[in-house]
Order: sequence, then structure tokens, then C-alpha cells
Amino acid sequence: MRSELYIGGRWISPIKGGTFDVVNPATEDVIHKLPAATAEDVDAAVAAARRAFDKDGWPKLSGAQRAAYLRAIADGIRVRQQEIARLEVIDNGKPLPEAAWDIANAAGCFDYFAGLAEQRDNDRGEPIKLSDARFTSRAVKEPIGVAGAIIPWNYPLLMAAWKVAPALVAGCTVVLKPAELTSLTALELAIADEAKLPPGVLNVVTGSGSVAGQAIVDHKGVDKLAFTGSGPVGSKIMTAAARDIKRVSLELGGKSPFVVFDDADIDEAVEWIMFGIFWNQGQVCSATSRVLVQDGIYGELLRRLVEETRKITIGNGLEDGILLGPLVSKRQHEQVLGAIEAARAAGATVACGGRRPDGFERGYFLEPTVLTDVPLGSDAWREEIFGPVLCIRPFSDENEAIELANESRFGLAAAVMSKDDVRAERVAAAFRAGIVWINCSQPTFTEAPWGGYKESGIGRELGYWGLENYLETKQITKFVTEEPWGWYMKPSEAAQ
Ligand code: NAD
Repeated sequence: MRSELYIGGRWISPIKGGTFDVVNPATEDVIHKLPAATAEDVDAAVAAARRAFDKDGWPKLSGAQRAAYLRAIADGIRVRQQEIARLEVIDNGKPLPEAAWDIANAAGCFDYFAGLAEQRDNDRGEPIKLSDARFTSRAVKEPIGVAGAIIPWNYPLLMAAWKVAPALVAGCTVVLKPAELTSLTALELAIADEAKLPPGVLNVVTGSGSVAGQAIVDHKGVDKLAFTGSGPVGSKIMTAAARDIKRVSLELGGKSPFVVFDDADIDEAVEWIMFGIFWNQGQVCSATSRVLVQDGIYGELLRRLVEETRKITIGNGLEDGILLGPLVSKRQHEQVLGAIEAARAAGATVACGGRRPDGFERGYFLEPTVLTDVPLGSDAWREEIFGPVLCIRPFSDENEAIELANESRFGLAAAVMSKDDVRAERVAAAFRAGIVWINCSQPTFTEAPWGGYKESGIGRELGYWGLENYLETKQITKFVTEEPWGWYMKPSEAAQ
């Protein structure tokens, strides 16, 4: 396990020497200490990133050259996949197979963006047809500059990859700050060192949001902020970015609906519903946490759902056969339990779960929970719980389902299930959300845009859209005729 900051291609201790504890959420043991960076360390990281961008030529490399570094990083991750996955489990709590999937995906993300980098070598800019034939013009894309990437704890290495890979391909340099709850694997991204990534192109600083994160946000040397996390912090970052007109992209929370019509296969629906809410202990921004089921199958679907939910094996993610690990932290555990209590108090019924499982006195474990009779105006129905807690209710017709689904200040994801393809497409079109799944929930592809409507964020990650997050657009216009200047005033005349 790494114990230092990665700045300018070197491992260094924080200037003021503070540390914070790394806690294994399955055992509550302190397993490591990491450096708590302060504004001075962030300043050093930004200076290194600026040098790499302004002087050392990272943005001037060809796409193929940058792609070679990214592919080397991807290979480095793959070689150590199991080891990194185990670090993710002891840091975040998720079951090992899920962690291994995340790490493989992180490597795949570097490979995918390497491919885009190679394609960009043939890109001479988009020609623009002007209304005046004496000029030609084209739009070229250039890197924004130094990107500050601030990420959450639910997919630690994967979220880092979603930001670092497109930023590097664009030609930006990066200061990355992982969440203080899960910083172990982001430091492993210094595999970049073995990949001979030039010093300062990627810098990793660990520390708290209010100190290290805020220092990145406020730093004048940072041109772009890319953030994934909670709405309130996202809003703070956008406000701060407005001061210096920094570019900003935000991936925030959600309360995503899943509409199941009564022609759907009940067993299939139950499987996708469970995947949509219990994967990663429900700590997924796009979790389909509000399930709406047409009344013809509501009773039977709920019965099957509760039956299957009770079978989920809970335990330390390092053990075989575990499907649900602990929540990430004591605070998160308390918050989710508190949300369940508040739902009960508001009139909801706990159909299953809702408590710490028997035999788990230590660790932040919680039974997977299904809530029924959740009042529409209650926090449980409206606010993100970010845990393995599902709210389910019946609906009678399509219009009601769409209305209930869209009645939210969030708009990250939405899903619909029906054998009637025309209806499913109609509902998909009616959803006010950035990601819509038909007959499934949660499959995520590096090639496709990811991000939310409304308060779920601004900008898109992944695919070409993700690369655009780190690019500026420049118009280059040329005067290409021998004809006289025309109707413009000549400088010699203007001077008189
Ligand atoms: P958080 O907002 O508390 O923290 C996210 C990151 O921001 C952490 O690295 C934290 O240290 C940092 N941070 C906190 N305060 C800061 C400040 N003042 N300035 C700069 N940085 C600061 O969120 P979290 O608890 O880590 O994650 C849970 C939330 O993230 C949930 O609401 C979830 O929906 C959201 N999330 C969204 C997505 C998505 O893709 N849309 C993905 C994962 C998580």
C-alpha cells in the first residue's frame, strides 16, 4: 500500500506531515494511514501539472504517442488486477468479483480512450462553410489545460479512470483527488510511473474534501474541474468555478425510476430490479431505487422480490459467494439506517431488511431492504438514500407511470420493462433522464455518454462526449483571396 502523495513523478510526504486513517468497513479495523494533503501540497501538484502542460509538451504529443502511455497504464492495471481488486475490497467493502469487474473496466477505459487518441491524429479540424467565400474557416479542438479531478468512494479506481483517461487523451494534465474514504487504489494509478508517463502529467493528492479538495477548486492554476459526488458539494464547486470562469463538469446523485409493465416476465424483472439496487450495496448514483410496477403483477412481483432479497448472502467481500458487503463507512451506515427509520415514521412498511443483520456486530453491514407504502412526498421516495434500499409502489396506466417517474428534481437514469417495444420506446422518450435503459437496468458502456438531466449534473462522461469535457473549441479563419479588402475601413483611414 502506498503512503505518499504522487506529485511531479515523485512520491513525496505532505509538507505539513498530517495523516488520516484508512478503515476496513467489513472489520472496522484501521488498516493504513495516508497523507492528508493541504493547500501547499495541492499548490505543488498544480505547479507540476502546469509545467507538464505549459512547458514540457504533453499537449503537443501526437495522439498515438499519448495512446501508447494510456495502453501501458491499462496493461499495468491488468497485470495487477487481482491485487488492486483486493485493495478495493478492504477499502470500500464491495464483494471481490465486483471489485475485479471494476478494475478490468478501469483498464478498458484507458484502452478505449487510447483508441480515441489515435483517431484524433487524423483530425485536422472541422471545416466550416462560411457565407463569405473570401475566407475559409475550421474548428479545431484543443486541451483545456490543467484538470482538477475530484471523485467519490463508490467506484474508486473506475471513477478515477473515467476522468484521468479522457483528460490525458485530450492533452490535459491532471491533479486527482480521491475520496478520503477510499484512496488506496487511486494511488496505484501511479502505475503511470512504470508506464513512464512524463512527470507532472498525472498527480495524485489524498486528503479531505474541505482542505485538499477545496484547494484544488480554488486554485487559479486549475482550468477545469471534473467532479463526481454529492449534489451539495457539486453546487459549491460550480459556485466556486464561476469566480474564475473555470470549466466544470458535474456527475451528481439520482433517485432513478424503474417502470415495469404487467406484460414483463416477473423473474427477469426481479433480477434486473435487484441488480439495479443491490449491486455495490446500492451505493450507485444511477441505482434504480424507485420501482413502479403495474398493478396486474405488483403483488406477485413483490412476493418474488422479497423472497429473492432474503436469499442474498451478506459478508466480508473477500469471502467466497458474498453478494452484499458492508456499506463504506460508519457515517454512511448511520445515514442509511436513519433514512429507513424516517421512512417508517412517514408511514412506509419494511417488507424485508431494514436492520443490521444478525451475527454481524462489527462492520457496517445492513440487510438489503424493500420498502412499500412509501408516501410520495416523503424523503424516502424523493431523496437519494445511497444504500441497499428499494422503494416500490404500484401504478395503473402508462401516463401515471411516466408522471411518477419524472416527478423528481433528479434526472440521472430511468428504466422501463415491457414486451411491447413500441410502448417501451414511447416511455423511454418520455423519461427526463440522461441515461435510459429498456428491459434492463445499469449496464454501463465506456463508449456511451453518461450523465444527468436536472440536478443530477452537467456535462457527460465516457465516449466522445467524455473527451469533449476536456477540450476547448478554437475557430481558425483565413483570408484567402487576392481581392481588395472591401467594405471594411482600412487602418490608414481609421487613423485619420
Ligand atoms: P461527496 O460530495 O461528499 O464527496 C465527493 C468528493 O468530493 C470526495 O473526494 C470529497 O473529498 C470531495 N469534496 C467534499 N467536499 C469538497 C469541497 N468542499 N471541495 C472540493 N471537494 C470536496 O460525495 P461522496 O459522499 O463521496 O459520494 C456520494 C455521492 O456521490 C452520492 O450523492 C452519489 O449519488 C454521488 N455519485 C454520483 C455519481 C455519478 O456518476 N453521477 C457517481 C458516484 C457517486
